[in-house]
Amino acid sequence: MSENKIPYKIYLSEEEMPTAWYNVRADMKNKPAPLLNPGTLEPMKAEELEGVFCSELVKQELNNDDRYIEIPQTIRDFYKMYRPSPLVRAYCLEEKLGTPAKIYYKFEGNNTSGSHKLNSAIAQAYYAKQQGLSGVTTETGAGQWGTALSMACAYLGLDCKVYMVKCSYEQKPFRREVMRTYGADVTPSPSNTTNVGRAILEQFPGTTGSLGCAISEAVEAAVSSGGKYRYVLGSVLSQVLLHQSVIGLETKTALDKYGITPDIIIGCAGGGSNLGGLISPFMGEKLRGEKDYRFIAVEPASCPSLTRGKFAYDFCDTGKVCPLAKMYTLGSGFIPSANHAGGLRYHGMSSILSQLYHDGYMEAVSVEQTSVFEAAEMFARIEGILPAPESSHAIRVAIDEALKCKETGEEKTIVFGLTGTGYFDMVAYEKFNNGEMVDYIPTDEELEKSFAQMPKVDK
Ligand SMILES: *Cc1c(COP(=O)(O)O)cnc(C)c1O
Repeated sequence: MSENKIPYKIYLSEEEMPTAWYNVRADMKNKPAPLLNPGTLEPMKAEELEGVFCSELVKQELNNDDRYIEIPQTIRDFYKMYRPSPLVRAYCLEEKLGTPAKIYYKFEGNNTSGSHKLNSAIAQAYYAKQQGLSGVTTETGAGQWGTALSMACAYLGLDCKVYMVKCSYEQKPFRREVMRTYGADVTPSPSNTTNVGRAILEQFPGTTGSLGCAISEAVEAAVSSGGKYRYVLGSVLSQVLLHQSVIGLETKTALDKYGITPDIIIGCAGGGSNLGGLISPFMGEKLRGEKDYRFIAVEPASCPSLTRGKFAYDFCDTGKVCPLAKMYTLGSGFIPSANHAGGLRYHGMSSILSQLYHDGYMEAVSVEQTSVFEAAEMFARIEGILPAPESSHAIRVAIDEALKCKETGEEKTIVFGLTGTGYFDMVAYEKFNNGEMVDYIPTDEELEKSFAQMPKVDK
């Protein structure tokens, strides 16, 4: 079929959607390091994790061996409300750049929550429902995850308690109202509804909160619910990458239909879930020695966990109530400057992606936010979609790679993940349009200070 002109949008039929998630850990020689109990420093057992997380999700979290895990029918039906998502050939962008490169993007913004997070939200809500729980607790930073989870919980009739980082709660009232419209209970964090929240407020009275702190509150709310609630997390965990593999599986099916083999696959990386999901099936081929691809993780220069972090065991949250994870991290005490890509401000990175990066299977670059918004605006004007600031990190690097092809004349095929839309980020766009956007890059001294606070684990 390769002589046929590739359409602007490759849509799969519903029958072509994946029926199982792909678990890339099955093909990794060096498995991601286990979560550790912060008290004993021993690997967390399923029973210990089940106090915090839903039982089926604990199984998925610990499953390093099964290559495929069937997607339950209810989740597949829900996916059909907004999937399959299109794989778009960026003809207009290619022409504007004058590049011989062929650029494709997988667009995950076609649902009300506006991002890929719904792919895992529905899965996690489903397993909570299966277990007979009343509801789930979670944190949200920029608000995309909270919105996605609210939608999933509304669909299944579950309570949804969201701890929203206080500065977002105040600055993004519309996100908050979307969550409440879907029935979620939204509390600004830190709050006085939890012990950890009260302690943080006492120590830092004026604080506008952080993701790590909201996580601690949401975990406490679940653990102290008498078993009626469990905590769910929208990124970082291996189960979330598993659910997000639906992005990569659809992308691969669409490319295969037209005999297209990508050279470079690019994604933005906050906790690593969209990138991990997008690259998983391709990474599997690379790990099995069948094919070779370049994978590029793009992170903000203000929160550079892969490019400047340490690969070590660290806390996942500020309150230090969660297990320790081995990952590229800036230290759980690191609070990045207020950049506008809220979804990329986590201090750590998925253990799976961290291990793959450590073993040389993946590259990483960091970019500054003014150059990200230049790319975002160019993309909006040429391709029509108003991208989320997070997604625009991937756009920036896709454009940079396409411009390199223009210089060398190479016709590389570039695929990137367009994770969401930016309608709720107009304050950020306003700053950019007014020329008021600044870039803040942490100094080595600041990072060293944060590294010095990390737990000393000899594993
Ligand atoms: C949350 C979010 C991200 C970053 O999260 P990952 O887990 O790294 O994928 C990227 N883009 C959008 C639109 C988001 O909402």
